[in-house]
Amino acid sequence: MKSRKSLLLLMLAIICASAVVVTTYVLAARKASSDISEGSERQLQIVALDLESVLQKFETLPFALGFQSDVLQALAQPGDQQNIQRLNLALQLIQRQSKVVAIYVLDRKGLTLASSNWDTATSFVGRDFGFRPYFSAAINGQPGRFYGIGNATNVPGYFIAQPIYASAAEYGRKAALGVMVVKIDLTEFEHTWSSSEDPIALTDSRGVVFLSNRQEWKYHSMSPLNGAVQQDLTGTHQYADQPITPLISLPKAQRIGFGQHVTREVGRLGWQLIVFPSQARIVRIAMLWTLAAVLLLAIAAITMWAIYQRRRRLEERLTSAEYLDRTIALRTQELMVANHTLEVKYAKLKETEHLLRSTQNNLIQAGKLAMLGQMAAGIAHELNQPLAAIRAFADNAITFLSREQRDKATENLSHISNASARMGKIVGQLNGFSRKSHEAVAVIDLSKSIEAAALLLNNEFLTHGASLRIDIRDAAQVVGDSVRTEQVLINLLRNALDAVDNAEQKNISLVLEQETGEAVIRIRDSGPGIPAQVALHLFEPFFTTKPSGKGLGLGLAISSSIVQAMNGRLAAHNHSDGGAEFVLRIPLLESMDKVLES
Ligand code: ADP
Repeated sequence: MKSRKSLLLLMLAIICASAVVVTTYVLAARKASSDISEGSERQLQIVALDLESVLQKFETLPFALGFQSDVLQALAQPGDQQNIQRLNLALQLIQRQSKVVAIYVLDRKGLTLASSNWDTATSFVGRDFGFRPYFSAAINGQPGRFYGIGNATNVPGYFIAQPIYASAAEYGRKAALGVMVVKIDLTEFEHTWSSSEDPIALTDSRGVVFLSNRQEWKYHSMSPLNGAVQQDLTGTHQYADQPITPLISLPKAQRIGFGQHVTREVGRLGWQLIVFPSQARIVRIAMLWTLAAVLLLAIAAITMWAIYQRRRRLEERLTSAEYLDRTIALRTQELMVANHTLEVKYAKLKETEHLLRSTQNNLIQAGKLAMLGQMAAGIAHELNQPLAAIRAFADNAITFLSREQRDKATENLSHISNASARMGKIVGQLNGFSRKSHEAVAVIDLSKSIEAAALLLNNEFLTHGASLRIDIRDAAQVVGDSVRTEQVLINLLRNALDAVDNAEQKNISLVLEQETGEAVIRIRDSGPGIPAQVALHLFEPFFTTKPSGKGLGLGLAISSSIVQAMNGRLAAHNHSDGGAEFVLRIPLLESMDKVLES
């Protein structure tokens, strides 16, 4: 579709360009033609004036010569040879001075009495020119003018004849005595014209070319002559009796330039001076203009092509930019959708997390309560001991007071105070343990947590006859919930106690140290270790190998989640020397600070 349109446009452009070229040619040719015609017209005027002035110059020469006494003498006495000879010489001299072809005197019948060319082979003396029209005109008292090819000399010329009278008084009144003739050479003009590129021709009243810068055109007519005219020409021997054919009958090569022309009448014989403006020149000028137009069109076409290409490039760039914009918009939309999906997922996750957290809290609480039940006996024992001591110290104090032994009484009372402080401590621990933690995040000194857990389990270790060796190698501070941390330690120690219950050796060790930014607590027992099938489910909630009432299977699950909440890990393996080892890793406070700083 697009290519069809551009093809159509191209064709239109070609048609337009052709029209411009053709119009340019036609207009340029017309203008050149009119310019050249104008030029020819001017040339014509100059040539005509030139010709006219020459013709005019000799108009009066024969008239003036007619009054010479020798001339009148010759006419009166044609036999006077002496006088004739004198006249011949005089005419010859005048002819040479005035640079005409010939000057001669005719008697009343047209016979030549004397002539300037008397001494040449083609002398006119004795020749009869009565047939020439110029003679007839002059003998009848009119100036005779004629152009023709000389009868005797065969040289063309312009003849001016004037009648001769005996005196000025007779002029126009009496018949003329004879005729004085001057023959002028006009072929000089042909030489002048030869510098012109355009053909120039001088025709007589009948349209016969007798002077021209094209030799081959001479004695041919502009248009065919009819029989009467031909006959007339023969009668006057004007052009030496040669047949006059029209110019058009010339071979083509000889009539180059013949065609359009401008004319101007010149002289007194109805002559036409004709200039043929060169058609080749018109064509040349028109071609030059056309070439200029073609060049201009080519430049315009190239410029337009360049502009078109530039615009296309810009458009391409624009469309690619648009494409980019569209792609970006699409991507943005996709991303927004993805973002929205993510947000929805995140909200769901949050919800799930919340649910998990509350479930976890509930689980922890349940685990704690279960543990409390288990610990109840131990706690009772733990409290019983100081309570019994208090009673004993109180009894002692009463006795010492009655004996007025105040010092001893005071000592026993301070024992009571110590014991009750110890009890308060135990109760306080239990309070803290049973309380549902609200994620009171704080800095925990792990050695303190270990101490607290050991204290709570002290009695149980005693009843089981197990030993607990605590090795605090490095002090370690972590971030988390202190109560929950203690709960984890109690869980692990209690499991260890359970594990060594039936073992020969009942040794439990706890080591605290630092290892690459982490606090590491290793709790190892001398129990049977963890069987492979148990290891798979170790941290699953409600997984237990203990008889009902003794274990709930929540301890490790809760412990693991508490440790994870502190960004830590809880792992278990069997020690190469036997027994299980639980390893607790929690990031140190310093490393947390570093993470926060970065
Ligand atoms: P419970 O102690 O109530 O059974 P726990 O989650 O604390 O629940 O422990 C799950 C199980 O892991 C125990 O039943 C026991 O089989 C195993 N276990 C825990 N600690 C040890 C240990 N130190 N040595 C061997 N087995 C252990």
